[in-house]
Amino acid sequence: MRYLILSDIHANVTSLEAALAAVEGKWDRVICLGDVVGYGPDPNEVVDKIRALDAITIRGNHDKAGSGLEDAADFNPVARAVALWTREKLTPDNLDYLQKLPTGPLELDGMSFVHGALRDEDEYVFTQAQALEGLLEAPLPVTFFGHTHLQGGFILDETNVEVVRLKVPPGVGSAKIDIVDGKTYLLNPGSVGQPRDGDPRAGFAIAELSNHSVEFWRVPYEVSAVQERMTRAGLPEPLIARIAFGR
Ligand code: ZN
Repeated sequence: MRYLILSDIHANVTSLEAALAAVEGKWDRVICLGDVVGYGPDPNEVVDKIRALDAITIRGNHDKAGSGLEDAADFNPVARAVALWTREKLTPDNLDYLQKLPTGPLELDGMSFVHGALRDEDEYVFTQAQALEGLLEAPLPVTFFGHTHLQGGFILDETNVEVVRLKVPPGVGSAKIDIVDGKTYLLNPGSVGQPRDGDPRAGFAIAELSNHSVEFWRVPYEVSAVQERMTRAGLPEPLIARIAFGR
């Protein structure tokens, strides 16, 4: 079974469509690690697409804020403004869909899936020290997480936590890691709609554990088209600028 693992799409339908087009026929099932909405201009289009894909989806903090499950009081003013805008834009049906998304962790086919950290859906895992806790407590050898928008992750062997560094070739490209027995993996597929690792291309992963393989993909998309829709919608300038830099 080949799982297409998407995270942090953030209402960017152009990046989502580019990602899907690039890997057509290369996956069997879609998993989404949350933050379907927030920041971007296309909340309904992205929710519609995720529903049409029949993706197995867990909620992210922006799904809670964007659907009104939480009041976004802990968000910065820019993120909060878009959360409120998103709430007004969403159709009642899509609002209901987001409100009912399950909380991670979710376990499926030998893998765990969370939005933030295993013990807390809203917690960020940036450093080796933060990763160690999850790696030691992980119920399964492979966990996928999102929330940081940084593609890559961490591998625990007997003695240390190794940082997964990826070199994905320019254009449409992927980099593969081998899943080895006896090691524990905490992997971030990257962000489809708002990457923050300096590479503006849409990031995601395809996992095929029966083949001991996880492929990390990057796919370029038409950033300017998204920026134009954001400008027309009156979304905050810093958010419009950042997607061109992948920061
Ligand atoms: Zn996010």
